[in-house]
Amino acid sequence: MTCNPRYQTLFDPVRIGPVTAPNRFYQVPHASGMTNALPRVRAAFREAKAEGGWGVICTGACSIDPSSDDAPLPFATIWDDNDIRAHALMTDAVHRHGSLAGIELWHGGASVMNRASRLTPLSPSGIPWMATHIGFMGNLRPKTMDRSDIRDVLKWQAEGARKARIAGFDIVYVYAGMGYLGYEFLLPEYNHRTDEYGGSIENRVRFVREMIEVTKDAVGNDCGVALRVSLEELRGRPGRNQPSEAHELIELLADGPDLFDVKMDSSPTDCSPSRFTGEGSHEPVIDFVKSLTGKPVVGVGRFTSPDTMVSQIRRGILDLIGGARPSIADPFLPKKILEGREDEIRECIGCNICISSWHDGVPVRCTQNPTAGEEWRRGWHPERVERAAAPEKILIVGGGPAGLECALTLGRRGHEVTVADSGRSFGGRLTFETRLPGLSAWNRVAEYRLGRLDAMSNVSLYSESTLGADEIVDLAPDRVVLATGARWTKMLYSSMEIPVGVLDHPQVFTPDDIAVGRLPAGPTLVFDFDNYYMGGLLTEHLAALGIPVTYATPAGQASAWTIMTNELPLVHRALSRRRVPVETLQTLKAFDGETATLAHVFTGEESRVACASVLIVGLRLPRGELHEVLTARAEEVAAAGIRSVDRIGDALAPGAIVHAVHSGHKYARELGSVAAARPYRRDTPIVDAVSDFEMRTAAE
Ligand code: ADP
Ligand code: SF4
Repeated sequence: MTCNPRYQTLFDPVRIGPVTAPNRFYQVPHASGMTNALPRVRAAFREAKAEGGWGVICTGACSIDPSSDDAPLPFATIWDDNDIRAHALMTDAVHRHGSLAGIELWHGGASVMNRASRLTPLSPSGIPWMATHIGFMGNLRPKTMDRSDIRDVLKWQAEGARKARIAGFDIVYVYAGMGYLGYEFLLPEYNHRTDEYGGSIENRVRFVREMIEVTKDAVGNDCGVALRVSLEELRGRPGRNQPSEAHELIELLADGPDLFDVKMDSSPTDCSPSRFTGEGSHEPVIDFVKSLTGKPVVGVGRFTSPDTMVSQIRRGILDLIGGARPSIADPFLPKKILEGREDEIRECIGCNICISSWHDGVPVRCTQNPTAGEEWRRGWHPERVERAAAPEKILIVGGGPAGLECALTLGRRGHEVTVADSGRSFGGRLTFETRLPGLSAWNRVAEYRLGRLDAMSNVSLYSESTLGADEIVDLAPDRVVLATGARWTKMLYSSMEIPVGVLDHPQVFTPDDIAVGRLPAGPTLVFDFDNYYMGGLLTEHLAALGIPVTYATPAGQASAWTIMTNELPLVHRALSRRRVPVETLQTLKAFDGETATLAHVFTGEESRVACASVLIVGLRLPRGELHEVLTARAEEVAAAGIRSVDRIGDALAPGAIVHAVHSGHKYARELGSVAAARPYRRDTPIVDAVSDFEMRTAAE
């Protein structure tokens, strides 16, 4: 197949200073959680995207000096020769496929606490970022940079750029976004300086301009220099000669960098979840940039539709289509468009599990792409699987995310697969959850897999087919995979933070009741100790149906874990819009049909909420009956020729959809493979010699 002529412009080369991107697909810098400690994992993760056709592949933030130390959050470094060697693995891997490699040089300024390096944090005016969320809070405030500090940072940037060039990078970044040092100089809230670096926008831009100049000097004619800048706040500030200070900034720097990489200011708006924001959400903030500079512009917006991408180019918004999440969900997105296979794109669902991996301090995980981060350590290619040496007949019971992913991967391996599901349609939990406010894009998990399965003659799907042990034994496949999912329970929550006891009352509900349309009557208390999206979302859902709802949780915030996915502030806003009272640090003690008794988790102080129903969003347990029966009838199962009965997904261990997809993929990938014998390959840092970096710093 060939590229649709409508999309051909996406494959035009674009000059970025002295280098040329082979096409317009630009994987912007994004956190991968991999750091220099996992250089092979990282190189293979990025190589998959280059192989898949992304014309530019960038690193995430790379610290230029130990005074920019984000520990315990994962971050890369370009401090010494070992770092150069670690990065060179990636640039080699990217160049193998004809793509350009970019490096995001980074100084965190006031937003890093230097917890590991214990160096004094730097900032324009000693103004700290006072995070409200524990993961980001710190108790060390930054010093105000004097002129020699400014000179030092410029020197570190230049050194970083020179090292980047040695490591083989083609594009070197100056970073002035997301609350980090360059950005802090731009914003009057951080920058109270009265010298030539503070005050007017011309002065506030000076530090960034100098960073661009030293970077250009350092890389000469070998590399393009990119400026990554957040424009959201500045766009809201009226300018003197232009509609906003964002306009003035671009005007002042129009000829400085070889590329503008423009974005929003904070994680919830920059990397916004699909639950609250659609594709192309940055456009109203960055739409003017091209009108003020002749340099190419890249921006993001969770672009997965080639029509939207082309529209961004045609309307003069962007020159390069930036992608972080879409490139994680489908490293082969560009190639699929090039080959006219758009219907095979595994579209990002905007769940932000990938960003939660960074917050968790681990390599990136993706709901849609179970191979993300597994390319090197488990040898999983995003598009290719090994054909099975001896194809088998495999019955999968349950067609949710785990069952569908398992069927797809087993099918690709050449097995003869049957999937049976009780439901009228496939998708398991998604069939209900994607009807909740904002979650429709999540249906792509099922749609992508069903679309691919449809084209496979060796996979059969049967809906409205509830299977019991008798049917399974009668069918006598070679193997049985149970992907039967999990159930929500009515368990409560103890002061030891452990699920405990069952609240037994006819007016107590679980999300499974809501899923089948059994709704609570009258004022309802939602008690949520699951802490992810379901509690907040069902609260919104019930409130939208006109049911008065109070939300209570033992956590400090509503849907507390959603801080990891950038959703937390947006969840609170959504509940507030619905006028839902939010009771935090409360556990549910009792309910008598008219009143729920809450107790404060720390003080034990009791309070009462008048309500006719309670919805508990707490513990999920596997739907395990079928497994129990088949285990009890093991001899009969073996006599039927069934070699194995395994569980995957929520039927094995209930979790988020990302875990179910990974579990289904893992089973299918490892069936009959020797790789199954070991969990994965362990990566190690590249240490050719003990670095003299610390000594050099001390001597200076
Ligand atoms: P996961 O996230 O692990 O894929 P889900 O709960 O989303 O789990 O999906 C499990 C699916 O299994 C549901 O669609 C459910 O209807 C189906 N299922 C459960 N038990 C049976 C059974 N005995 N026979 C057929 N389908 C079943
Ligand atoms: Fe997209 Fe979710 Fe994958 Fe992130 S984890 S890339 S948001 S599908």
